[in-house]
Amino acid sequence: MAIIPINLKEGKIEQAKEIIIGIDLGTTNSLVAYMKDGAATCVKDANGKSTLVPSVVHFGTNDQIIVGDAAKEHLITDPANTIYSVKRLMGKSYKDILEKGEQLGYSILDEDTDSLVKIRVGNRFYTPIELSALILKELKTRIEGEIGTAVSKAVITVPAYFNDNQRQATRDAGKLAGLDVLRIVNEPTAAALAYGIDRTTPPDGEIIAVYDLGGGTFDISILRIQDGIFEVLSTNGDTYLGGDDFDRIIIDYFSFQLKTDEKTLEKEKETMQELRLLAETAKKALSDNERFDGILKGQPVSITRLEFEEKSRFLVEKTLKCCQNALSDAKLTVAQIDKIVMVGGSTRMPVIKNTVGQFFNKPVFDHLNPDEVVALGAAIQADVLAGNQTDILLLDITPLSLGIETVGGLMDVIIPRNTKVPGKAGRQYTTSVDGQKNLKISIYQGERDLVAHNRKLGEFILAGIPPMPAALPKIDIHFILNADGILTVKAKELRSGVAQQIEVKPTYGISEEEMGMMLLDSIQNAQSDMQQRGVLEARNEANNILLSGQKFLVQNDAILSDEEKATTQQLLDALRASTQLDDKDAIHAAMDALNQYTTPLAHRTMDVNIGAALKGASLG
Ligand code: AMP
Repeated sequence: MAIIPINLKEGKIEQAKEIIIGIDLGTTNSLVAYMKDGAATCVKDANGKSTLVPSVVHFGTNDQIIVGDAAKEHLITDPANTIYSVKRLMGKSYKDILEKGEQLGYSILDEDTDSLVKIRVGNRFYTPIELSALILKELKTRIEGEIGTAVSKAVITVPAYFNDNQRQATRDAGKLAGLDVLRIVNEPTAAALAYGIDRTTPPDGEIIAVYDLGGGTFDISILRIQDGIFEVLSTNGDTYLGGDDFDRIIIDYFSFQLKTDEKTLEKEKETMQELRLLAETAKKALSDNERFDGILKGQPVSITRLEFEEKSRFLVEKTLKCCQNALSDAKLTVAQIDKIVMVGGSTRMPVIKNTVGQFFNKPVFDHLNPDEVVALGAAIQADVLAGNQTDILLLDITPLSLGIETVGGLMDVIIPRNTKVPGKAGRQYTTSVDGQKNLKISIYQGERDLVAHNRKLGEFILAGIPPMPAALPKIDIHFILNADGILTVKAKELRSGVAQQIEVKPTYGISEEEMGMMLLDSIQNAQSDMQQRGVLEARNEANNILLSGQKFLVQNDAILSDEEKATTQQLLDALRASTQLDDKDAIHAAMDALNQYTTPLAHRTMDVNIGAALKGASLG
């Protein structure tokens, strides 16, 4: 089964080949590339200067949304309404963010620790998917401006360590931006494709290391390439190590020369900003020159490459430690690495190229622009999918996503469309009602967010789950798609071992044309689907909170004051009322208000309850 050609503009399926774009959706910057006259090319801005679109979204007055360079200018003047690094939040829950100790200039919503994180901008709440979609739309507009026609299909890259949730979130962002995401490709794989490494791989395969040092993150990936197939052997890195840390070394050094410290400078916002920019300019200059001289606040400052390299040595060492860890995880030695590919703007520093080359004892691949290589590789992968590179093998793929129905009639994709066949994937679920003994598993095919709009393939009941409180059972659901396109769905409750399974054939009774129409519908309705999904998810979250809020009042009746009980009840009533509306922002605002009021109460009641328990223990 090949890729289904659809024409979004005219709303029909078409036979002509169209341009499929490659997108590097980065933490700091994003790029879009395509095949121009047979060569992968990144698209520049309107001035023809830069191929980078800063991954920054600014919400201005009058609902104005700005993306890219213009948005970046607001990072300092209006941080609360300027969102950056949204990639760090993709597919993450508030709990994940707390564990990572993420420091952000804007506000995220902490209503329910297990649900996916939302970002608060004024009275609106955005998911990382919606924000990423805005960046993707900007890239789409940029390339459409360049080639003069609409584009609707894309390949998007993600870090090799992204899990299923993060990959699905990236796909959803593409759909919301009006893009049919044909494939999610690992960034290191894209970099290797850009260098054409897969074309020269010997029959017994090759092992490559991709060293990616960007503005704020460092990743090292070890891949095996054989017969055009890329396998990730290990990944390592540091999500808080990048060019910014090298800038900070120079900031410190220049502050020292100015006989001032960073704390004093922090108070003088403009000088600090000037110093930051000067430090980055100095760092970049030192990649080509032995020395940098500048002026700040009328005083001269300077740094030599040697001084810079000495002072930043520990940062380079940190990356090498990660390389060593990645090698150990892959059970490989340095000598077994055949090639090293450099990715990310910070690999322009000679000290990086030299040290990494020494570490692996080989010259590194660095002749392509390190900012662009991932996007270029994505464009090459896109061209392969478009069927333009006949010497590369196209594998059999599933034409439509396969998934199950979850609470509220939502579609939960387990095998995304365009996944290689044969293939398998699974996920764990639980119950939402105390003592639930049976669980109906309904299997659907399609791209829409609500199962009602998708095609039902079958259903079965997992019966005989021993009665347990809600959320305690662990139900593993596995989808296995064999080479003949037969899908086996297996469900098993892990605590008791009860299991059940069904077999269906997803492509049975559906024509290619019908599949194309389903795909088209999903992109045309992406905006309203996302809206409905947002409301349904907010309502599910609110219902859970209402249950626990009511329990909280009963359990702590003796500890809370009458006023506290009355206010909590009022806020719970307001939340219940908000769930009747089709307005996710209203539901989130009500959850936020309840949460802000009850968090200190919860801490206090917990202290009292623990105190009481301890007293009981000592008495016993
Ligand atoms: P990326 O996230 O891959 O776009 O990388 C951006 C980082 O690369 C920023 O920290 C830049 O300061 C850094 N960078 C860009 N050009 C150079 C250069 N010539 N020398 C050193 N660092 C650079």
